[in-house]
Amino acid sequence: MFPIINYRQGTVCFLLCLSLIFAGTGLVLGNEEVPHRKLEDYNWMEFKLTVPSKVDTVLLVTGTLEAHGVGNNGADFTVPYHLCQLISDEVNAIIAPYIPYGRTVSLAPYSGGFGISEKVFKGYVREVIEGLATIGFKNIIIINGHGPNRQPVDEAATEVALARKVRCLVIDWWSYTADITMEVFGENGGHAGINENAAMLAVDPSLIHKELYSEELASPIDPSYTAIPSPSSILLYKAGEGYPNFDLDQAKLYTKKVAEKLEELIKDTIRRWDEAGF
Ligand SMILES: [Zn+2]
Repeated sequence: MFPIINYRQGTVCFLLCLSLIFAGTGLVLGNEEVPHRKLEDYNWMEFKLTVPSKVDTVLLVTGTLEAHGVGNNGADFTVPYHLCQLISDEVNAIIAPYIPYGRTVSLAPYSGGFGISEKVFKGYVREVIEGLATIGFKNIIIINGHGPNRQPVDEAATEVALARKVRCLVIDWWSYTADITMEVFGENGGHAGINENAAMLAVDPSLIHKELYSEELASPIDPSYTAIPSPSSILLYKAGEGYPNFDLDQAKLYTKKVAEKLEELIKDTIRRWDEAGF
């Protein structure tokens, strides 16, 4: 049996159905309420409507310019920036423009790279984090791509987090995911070694020049001595392991697993911050 609906009831019914459709669509299109994932793509009006009401997490990459075997000198920001792009939807974050200049030290004499002083780097990073807090981000997630950046970035993040009551997480991406290097490749990695070379390959195969590669480009890092300049631009964490293998499928699998592990850490840390009431 069909109920008899008059014109007025029909109109109400139509509007109700329409609103339900839009409500449903709104759920499906939830992410479209976030107009962009890159901070630099916003205009001020869009930003005002988005941060912090719809997004209160920002991803910031700190890298440097330095030699990476047969890969690109900018790997320490191109790789973590790519990782940010893989996870930004899942962690509902906006990606800030990366910081490309950092603490290149023992590899500085290799062509095309250079570092900036720790004092300037730390001060600059601190003010960038401060700026991200000022514009409304509550969770400032820093994906660091370069070992010697870590201490000044940690210090800068700590200072801002405590002074501004924001929440900061600093991650050395390759170090936090060392277990994935073992899982995928079955051996330890290295600077521009099998793991980082794979990540560069996954970003853009044209950045990797296999034809220039030989094992002579690699040497192990031994904490019992320091050589400046570094004698190699591929530095193995363990002697005899971690030579680049140029396997694109393995590179994609590794990078996917790395992104997933970072994503879990970020989600879990934010959940714990929330639960603790920070
Ligand atoms: Zn690197």
